[in-house]
Amino acid sequence: MSKILIIAEHAHGVLNQSTAKCVACASEIPDAEIHVAVVADNSEAVAAAAAGLASVKSVICVDNPANENQLAAVIAPQVVALADGYSHIFGPSTTFGRDLMPRVAALLGVNQISDIMEVIGSHSFKRPVYAGNAIVTVKAPADIPVVATVRAASYRAVAAGGDAATSSASIDVECPEHTRFIELQTGKSDRPDLQTAAKVVAGGRALGSKENFELIFKLADTLGAGVGATRAAVDAGYVPNEMQVGQTGKIIAPELYFAIGISGAIQHLTGIKDAGTIVAINKDPDAPIFEVADIGVVGDLFAIVPELQAALSG
Ligand SMILES: Cc1cc2nc3c(=O)[nH]c(=O)nc-3n(C[C@H](O)[C@H](O)[C@H](O)COP(=O)(O)OP(=O)(O)OC[C@H]3O[C@@H](n4cnc5c(N)ncnc54)[C@H](O)[C@@H]3O)c2cc1C
Repeated sequence: MSKILIIAEHAHGVLNQSTAKCVACASEIPDAEIHVAVVADNSEAVAAAAAGLASVKSVICVDNPANENQLAAVIAPQVVALADGYSHIFGPSTTFGRDLMPRVAALLGVNQISDIMEVIGSHSFKRPVYAGNAIVTVKAPADIPVVATVRAASYRAVAAGGDAATSSASIDVECPEHTRFIELQTGKSDRPDLQTAAKVVAGGRALGSKENFELIFKLADTLGAGVGATRAAVDAGYVPNEMQVGQTGKIIAPELYFAIGISGAIQHLTGIKDAGTIVAINKDPDAPIFEVADIGVVGDLFAIVPELQAALSG
């Protein structure tokens, strides 16, 4: 039997969907018993949500005021203290998991497997390399714990309907103080979260300025969509870094993705590999984005987007 511990991602008392996607991945492992660890300052609401996920057998709460700001350096030794007896320890390949899981692997003295996108067997997984242009099958040794991140975009969240037992663990580890929380800088937005939105409207360098990027925000608001951008648009200062989609940004899997004034560089495409319908607007008919788009519109975005906006609003 494989005993799998999933580290819950959460903020402000809300369980992030990435956790339910990790559960989906873990449940592909034959004969898996799945536990979720909620490392928090007040785990109650998150633990209740985790306990309600299908396939989860048990939720372990670790409450400590030091966990208020979810610092990877502080959480990692607590996860390691829980690790005994588990064959697998999984976290999501989101910013949270990418920060935390390598520390867990290092403290346990094992290598990490990054971005599991398919389970082949209990110790054999598929993962992308070269910005998603090749898929490799990796095999982990069976006699040490598998510490891994799960590529959230490759999995659908498990449904609710579970009724897992919840318990508290008191952990006696020294939380490091060399990493301290100073402040969280984040864009405040009422729009759907880019990583979990069903629809995303994204803009590229072609927008030309921060002011022009408002066209993208307006269209997104009309569609009830999240907003993404290319690295070129981020580097040009049109939008903040947290909106970057791609190899060095966020990997997303919306049902509908609008790529507006985006060339379709491989580093961008790797972030939308699992998107459903891709709609591209580009003035260059030979732009690589048209090779992956389901619907392509060749033309000037500054004419097409306002027209689309008017049609949708009217
Ligand atoms: C290691 C590495 C990591 C990277 N990571 C990422 C990443 O995570 N995400 C990412 O996005 N990029 C990433 N990049 C950068 C990537 O290679 C591209 O440079 C970037 O994606 C290009 O952004 P863009 O499509 O906005 O700009 P461009 O390539 O300049 O394309 C602009 C497009 O807009 C079209 N256009 C221009 N004007 C109009 C108009 N008026 N109407 C309609 N269309 C118009 C053009 O025809 C063109 O196709 C990375 C690069 C490297 C080397």
